[in-house]
Amino acid sequence: MVFVILDVEERPKKVPRAFCMPLKVPEEVYLVIKPQGGQDDYQAFLHESGHTEHFANTDGSLSYELKHMGDYSVSETYAFLIEYLLANPLFLQKYVEMPKEKAQEFAGFIMEQKLQAFRRYAAKVIYELKLHRNDLKKLDKEFLPTEGEYTSAAAMYVDILTKATKIKYAKESYLLDVDAGLYAADYVRAWLFEVMVRKRLEEKFGGDWFSKRESGEFLKNMWKWGNSGKSVAELATAIGYAGVDICYLTDDFLQFFKA
Ligand SMILES: [Zn+2]
Repeated sequence: MVFVILDVEERPKKVPRAFCMPLKVPEEVYLVIKPQGGQDDYQAFLHESGHTEHFANTDGSLSYELKHMGDYSVSETYAFLIEYLLANPLFLQKYVEMPKEKAQEFAGFIMEQKLQAFRRYAAKVIYELKLHRNDLKKLDKEFLPTEGEYTSAAAMYVDILTKATKIKYAKESYLLDVDAGLYAADYVRAWLFEVMVRKRLEEKFGGDWFSKRESGEFLKNMWKWGNSGKSVAELATAIGYAGVDICYLTDDFLQFFKA
């Protein structure tokens, strides 16, 4: 028996950040959220729903390690896949009842946010690797090493993150804004693979794949492998790709913003 428990109630000391807690996979999976108002609640809820579906549909006979552990790019892929339904105008029209034009406009907002987030996390991978290696070599505008040196790790943080996002970063965050276990790399890999999974779903079941039963079967076939029964690269092969490639994400952004 599988229990997915939605903890959406208001408690005074509840943490505002939404999360999925796979207590026992697949039998007992919690989705915890404290709605604050605004589109972000929907985005967070859909993101955590992706994790929840993944863990609740994992094959229970896998070992604990394969169900729960390993890198998180597999689970983040499914989280992004469901989260970015908000960038699909067909989903917005069907389930949120947005008029066509508004749906396109809102999808554009989500895609811009996604582009900013992707560039931020890609920059974080570059910065965090350099930080851990104590490599202060200055990077040029293409993020390639030069002969110069940053005066400090904080200066390196500001330069790399600001250059990548065009948003001014504060030097004080140079140690705070570092994810444990290089989680930023898991997100980046997941952004790459999410588009590839979505393209397959669209090819097979159309732009409104989210409303087709067959899409659920297709995804359950992937979800069953848990967190590390198959890696992102192995899953890519399983659905007919030669490997994980950034070209699908780049094309997706270019096509969307050209349209
Ligand atoms: Zn996540």
